[in-house]
Parts: sequence; structure tokens; C-alpha cells
Amino acid sequence: MIDAHLHLTHNGRSVEETIAHIETIGAEKAVILPIEDGDGEFGWMTEDVVAAYAQYPHRIIPFCHVDVTREDAVGELEKRADRGIFKGYGEQKQHVRLDDPRLARVLAICNDLHWPVTWHFQEGERGYNGGIEHLEVLLKKFPNVRFIGHAQSWWAHISADVPAPSETLYPTGPVKPGGLIDRLLVDYDNIFADLSAGSGLGGLTRDEDFAAEFLARHSQKLMFATDCPCGDGKGAGTSRGSCFAQLSLPVLERMVAPDALEDILHNNAVRILNL
Ligand SMILES: [Zn+2]
Ligand SMILES: [Zn+2]
Repeated sequence: MIDAHLHLTHNGRSVEETIAHIETIGAEKAVILPIEDGDGEFGWMTEDVVAAYAQYPHRIIPFCHVDVTREDAVGELEKRADRGIFKGYGEQKQHVRLDDPRLARVLAICNDLHWPVTWHFQEGERGYNGGIEHLEVLLKKFPNVRFIGHAQSWWAHISADVPAPSETLYPTGPVKPGGLIDRLLVDYDNIFADLSAGSGLGGLTRDEDFAAEFLARHSQKLMFATDCPCGDGKGAGTSRGSCFAQLSLPVLERMVAPDALEDILHNNAVRILNL
């Protein structure tokens, strides 16, 4: 099993605890995502991922990130790519719009490298990578980038009717067929999704009849992932008192056929992330 979305020192967790999280949930490896930003909201640096990877190369799939608003973002990303250790770019989680040219210049490099890119899509006033209607333009413009969708507004678009972000970012209840992500996952070879966090789980559990078909339809496009901030892989330090893996795995085991489950838990990540 591979956890396709995890952060180092999430919630103050130590590197050792992050490795223990990977092992405790029964994963072999995890994608470790830095988030570099100019405003210091995250400040999860690529260099820290490099240091952890040097220590735990058999547990970490290292991604790099660069603050796209930096003047020298392209040069910095090229320097990172030259090190030859990174498997992809992300988590792209900044207060920029999807049609921002500063994002496009970074994606052009990722396109040359044939990299996967992990995205946090969240509409609203302090959203990240807002303007999801522009995503299809990027899919066409950067065909070698393997887009990996994640977060609230990605999963809200499992349904054709999406409430205003000011109303809720976590819609519940029956899914109206014809949602944006359902269509993009069918129409484009270069878009995928990770199933991490409450948004991923909520997107599946709000309408289980719909979700069972969605999981079957896109069984080659989805990756198990946690984005879990807990300290030990058992829920330490979280208000809900459980690890995301403890919530997500039983749902997937119940809703997905065994072969497809193996793909979602492991094989898709190997293929999509070029492992
Ligand atoms: Zn994340
Ligand atoms: Zn956890």
C-alpha cells in the first residue's frame, strides 16, 4: 500500500512520527509533499523533504515544491529538478488563480519533466488554486503533466450541482450525475485524484450508490491517500481520535472489488508516479 498524500511535521509531528505513521497504517511508502509559500502559512520546505528522504529512502517518495509567486520560481524549480531525486511537484496550495501566468510557467517545466503534480483545489475568498473551470484549459495545455486532484472543491465537483463556497465546502447528500471531475476523469488521460482527507472521504460517503459506480468507473485513476495530521497512525492529537486510514480503508474495502482495491491502494500509484 502507498499513501499518495502526506506531509512532514504536519501538526508539529516529528519526522520519526511521520515515518511511524506510514508504517502503522500498513503502508510501504508515502508521497511526502512540501508546501512553499511566500506568506509563511505553511513553510513546509523542499529541503526538509530532501533531508528526511536521505534518512528514510525506502519509506519516502519525495516531491518538491516552489512558491510560484517568487520572481525566480522557474530557475529554482529547474535547480530542484536537476538533483534528480524528485518524483513530482506539489502540493500546489497557494492563494493564486488557476489562470495565473506564474502558475503556467511552473507547469511548463513540470510538463517537460513528465511529472505528476498534486493540487489543492479550494474555491472561496481565501481559496487555493481557485477558478476550477480553468482546469480543462491546463489539462489541454500541459498534456505531459499528471494532474492529481484533491481537496474540497475538487470533491464538491463530483456532483453537477455545487453549493457556493460561502455556503459550504463540504456538500452532503445525493450526487447529481454529470459533475465536472467525473467528466474530466473520463475525457483526459492526464488527470487523476487522491482520496485523502475529509473531502475525499465525504465525496464518497455522501452518496454510496453513486460512489460505488464512480470508484469502479475510475478505478485506474484513483489513489489511496491520507493527508492525515495525526501523530501515530492511530489518531493521536486529532479531535476525532482516529487516523484517517482507520476511517477510509473500511469504506474502500466495503465499496471496491478486490482487484480494483489493489489498484487503488498500490498499483495506480506505482504507474501514475513513475515508481
Ligand atoms: Zn495536503
Ligand atoms: Zn493518521
